Amino acid sequence: MLWNGPFIHWGKEEADFADVRNYIYHGQKVDQQVHLGYDLSDVQNGPVQAANDGRVVWASDLGIYGNCVVLDHGYSLQSLYGHMREIDVKVGDMVKKGQKMGIAGQTGLAGGVHVHFGMQIDGVQTNPREWWDEHWIKDRILSKLQ
Ligand SMILES: [Zn+2]
Repeated sequence: MLWNGPFIHWGKEEADFADVRNYIYHGQKVDQQVHLGYDLSDVQNGPVQAANDGRVVWASDLGIYGNCVVLDHGYSLQSLYGHMREIDVKVGDMVKKGQKMGIAGQTGLAGGVHVHFGMQIDGVQTNPREWWDEHWIKDRILSKLQ
């Protein structure tokens, strides 16, 4: 377990976890997706910070997420940061909570500058809000592991 205490976030929470999105092209609905993360706005030219201690396992383009960093926090818990303009870390780097990993942007499928922040366990997307909550972490995770 590489992480310690609640995960951090910054900026303003815009799109919520599990929002349903319709994609319209020429007036026709062409797709529907469930948004599996949070969009953090008010981050123009701002640093993208590591939400907790971890190891960089991805640091390049990743489809709709654009320039993307994925951190592994141990026990198959990972955090993901999408739409970055600039990435300052590389795969294998160990980062500390709050450490700058690059600059926010709008690469990939993004309507404006924001950071898409997601968390997953063993590849399953989970609600980041829980990982921002110290009490939830204590009740649901730490007490079970001890
Ligand atoms: Zn998003």
